[in-house]
Amino acid sequence: MREYAIYKGFEITETIKTDVVIIGAGVAGLYAALNMDSKLNVIILSKLGLEESNSIYAQGGIASIRLATDTWESHINDTLRAGAGMCDIEAVTVLVKEGPDNIENLVRLGVPFDRDENNNLSITKEAAHSCDRIVHCGGDATGYHLTKTLIANCRNKHNVKIIENMHMLDILTENGAAVGVVVKGENRNYIIEAAHVIIASGGIGRVFRNSTNSVCSTGDGIAAAMRAGAVVKDMEFVQFHPTALIYPNDNMRFFLISEAMRGSGAVLRNRKGERFMQKAHEMAELAPRDIVSRSIVKEMTENDLPCVYLDITFKPRNVLKERFPQIYENCLKRDIDIAVNWIPVFPVQHYFMGGIKTDTNGLTNIENLYACGESSCTGVHGANRLASNSLLECLVFSKRCANHINSKKHIKPTAIALDLPEKAAKQLDCQTYRSRIRDLMTKKGGIVRKEKHMTDAKAEISGYLEELKGTTLNSYKEFETLNMATVANKILTDALQRLESVGAHYRED
Ligand SMILES: Cc1cc2nc3c(=O)[nH]c(=O)nc-3n(C[C@H](O)[C@H](O)[C@H](O)COP(=O)(O)OP(=O)(O)OC[C@H]3O[C@@H](n4cnc5c(N)ncnc54)[C@H](O)[C@@H]3O)c2cc1C
Repeated sequence: MREYAIYKGFEITETIKTDVVIIGAGVAGLYAALNMDSKLNVIILSKLGLEESNSIYAQGGIASIRLATDTWESHINDTLRAGAGMCDIEAVTVLVKEGPDNIENLVRLGVPFDRDENNNLSITKEAAHSCDRIVHCGGDATGYHLTKTLIANCRNKHNVKIIENMHMLDILTENGAAVGVVVKGENRNYIIEAAHVIIASGGIGRVFRNSTNSVCSTGDGIAAAMRAGAVVKDMEFVQFHPTALIYPNDNMRFFLISEAMRGSGAVLRNRKGERFMQKAHEMAELAPRDIVSRSIVKEMTENDLPCVYLDITFKPRNVLKERFPQIYENCLKRDIDIAVNWIPVFPVQHYFMGGIKTDTNGLTNIENLYACGESSCTGVHGANRLASNSLLECLVFSKRCANHINSKKHIKPTAIALDLPEKAAKQLDCQTYRSRIRDLMTKKGGIVRKEKHMTDAKAEISGYLEELKGTTLNSYKEFETLNMATVANKILTDALQRLESVGAHYRED
């Protein structure tokens, strides 16, 4: 019998029918909906309001070939190099070759890309790219403008309905095919019967204590897909960003100080003002993210420091304000004037390379179940993501999901017969479980990994997981905690099995 988060006696008030249900209103989910045949009715679910997703927070931009001097081979090779030999070459080729058409499509949809004096899209370079190829909006506010434009376009489509504050709890399957989802609203639970289910629910960042990710990133879609029998892949590959501002916001999200800042010449210093990246790597501050992150951790540990500092004070204030408006304002709110002061930074969780395994059409091993965006693993990132390839992946593969569904013979959603497990009604201390999972993953499953540490963390987390699996969960936080325990346990399991260091997975032993 397959696993469910819900259980016998779980109260469902209503059944809704649609052709396609998309879990997630980030770039992947929204763009999938926009590319769907307008004859198909589409429901998009968002766990919280539309202002909360990783997509909204994306800063730097989208990588895609623009210059005549740039080539597919160059972007493909940069991606493969960052992925440390673990990428799927077919998927990378699709990503790179289909990128430019999708950027043109975004221009048609009204995305306000920054432009140069000749009215061409402005492009910039980021670490580990051999050519200028990153398009951006509002300086460092790409995600905000992109997501807002996609939402506005979805609102204009008669066949697309966005429902906010709806939590998907389980994916429903019959005879090996996805047939819908169970969702939790504010006071009621629903079944949404759908001929096709797309998981676009984003990453897993909030399984760690310190992350740049939205509060939504608790791995719900990945965990639900695992319960439904979907294969997941590359779960040990978690990317840490070297430079987040050390002060979190109200949601305990850490504000990212974009790589583009180091690309513009910013240098890292310790408390004494000394640069330390030059001795760590020939590319100094522009070394791959995992190397910069580990060098910062080493510097912090050896000198018992809470952070290191990013120095961009050599740039004129007007240049900083224009190129990095979000970073400039956010730091100023904390009394850090980046034209004068060094920025206190430390490495935090940032991106998830693993996820639900898909083919190049976004299809999983379960019939009618698709995944795209950060919750999927198409294989394009391998062991480490190249900067600004993730929004590109969202676009290219969510469109492919839509095209695949559009090309199928139209099937009606089937009525669902639920065969649910019995679970025990028990009092759970979910707040403690969540907090312990985050601490353990940060201290023992993070940037530098050791067998003993991971084994200890896994033993404790798998204990919570068993407890949560056997208990009747009620609040959405309880369901979320089950999902956090599920993905954390799988990350540790796969990290323990990979004995060598590769890409973002670093084994000290
Ligand atoms: C600070 C920051 C900066 C970044 N900068 C860049 C950049 O410059 N370039 C780049 O390429 N990438 C960047 N990234 C990465 C990129 O933004 C993400 O990988 C990408 O936006 C993920 O999009 P998505 O649609 O897959 O998921 P998200 O945008 O995270 O959206 C997930 C959606 O799923 C919903 N959801 C989750 N769980 C449930 C549930 N149980 N039920 C219902 N709905 C659910 C959420 O509500 C949300 O709507 C950045 C990421 C961060 C955090």
